[in-house]
Amino acid sequence: MTRSSPPPPLDLEPLLDTLARLADRTAAEGPWHSGAFAAAARHGLLATFIADRDGGTGLGEPAIVAALVAIAERCLTTALVVTQWAAAVRILAAAPADVRAALLPRLARGADPTTVGISQLTTSRRHLGRPALAAVRDGDTWRLDGLCPWVTGADSTHTIVTGAACADGDQAFFVVATDAAGLTIEPPLAMLALSGSRTSVVRFDGVRPVAMIESPTAAAARTGGLSTSALAAGAARAAVAVIAREAAVRPGLAGVAAEFAGEVDALRGRLLAAADRGIESADRDRLRADANGLVVRVAQAALTASKGAGFVAGHPVERLVRESLFFLGWSCPQAVADAFLCELTA
Ligand SMILES: Cc1cc2nc3c(=O)[nH]c(=O)nc-3n(C[C@H](O)[C@H](O)[C@H](O)COP(=O)(O)OP(=O)(O)OC[C@H]3O[C@@H](n4cnc5c(N)ncnc54)[C@H](O)[C@@H]3O)c2cc1C
Repeated sequence: MTRSSPPPPLDLEPLLDTLARLADRTAAEGPWHSGAFAAAARHGLLATFIADRDGGTGLGEPAIVAALVAIAERCLTTALVVTQWAAAVRILAAAPADVRAALLPRLARGADPTTVGISQLTTSRRHLGRPALAAVRDGDTWRLDGLCPWVTGADSTHTIVTGAACADGDQAFFVVATDAAGLTIEPPLAMLALSGSRTSVVRFDGVRPVAMIESPTAAAARTGGLSTSALAAGAARAAVAVIAREAAVRPGLAGVAAEFAGEVDALRGRLLAAADRGIESADRDRLRADANGLVVRVAQAALTASKGAGFVAGHPVERLVRESLFFLGWSCPQAVADAFLCELTA
């Protein structure tokens, strides 16, 4: 592909086959190293998140949500990484034209991967009463000091799109090169699941950003968006598939498999409708709460159906159970967390 050739249209089925085949390697090495990220670019997935005017193919939200459900079913690590990449790209869409022209057409083709580190503005370390990452104007540029507590793929990407608190209390968004002077990427966190996402703490000591983005849309920088629920729906579908496989030889499980399959289909239908027609914030939280509840329940049902065998490291179900717990923390709005705690204590 030449520098100026347009990105390919989305070719989902072959991409899904590739991601499923690479899933074990991706879980261990991360999608940048297993070939999964390159496949996402080659089969046109990445370009779907970028508007035509910026060198992408700009697929509509419903098709994107459907693709994310299907990808999360095959490989949750890739789905997480693509979602964080897409979150960065959505903020970049509000950048000045010269920044967009320099970055977005290349990103649409899978070059110079990016990621996002904005949880310090939304869900992380908010109780500390002081900004985790501070931005100070310095002549015609800025300097960033502090940290991003969570950056997926920080050590495997070229740029981080981040947000910081300014002295006047406003928030501003920046593009930072991962090899910038003063930027330190800590070794990826060893986590309960999804360690292949290579998620790190990133420290800033007088870092000069490549660009500033004045006003991304509120939607670009919020938690609990439809993508996060789409990933939970996909993970739930993977657990339903396990129960259905067991049910093929144990008819007593058929009803359970059918019941959960119906619930996942209904959740997916609600997600697609919301992507099509738009959704109010309270309904978005309700969807995320339902998605969280379902993915946790169905993973536990899959473990119950798989019995002790599913508890042994390396069995697909023990991974699905660990991965289901990811949704209780990741990009989870406080209202959703509160509702879940309420349910658990009932
Ligand atoms: C695998 C994974 C990948 C992620 N990738 C990204 C990414 O790429 N980009 C990104 O921006 N974000 C990312 N996140 C961050 C995520 O979206 C959430 O922001 C994050 O999980 C919030 O958890 P936290 O521990 O930082 O929350 P915090 O609120 O900071 O809680 C940490 C601890 O502080 C204490 N605490 C919390 N609230 C209070 C309080 N009110 N009073 C006193 N003490 C309190 C508790 O002991 C708690 O355990 C990722 C998360 C995960 C799990």
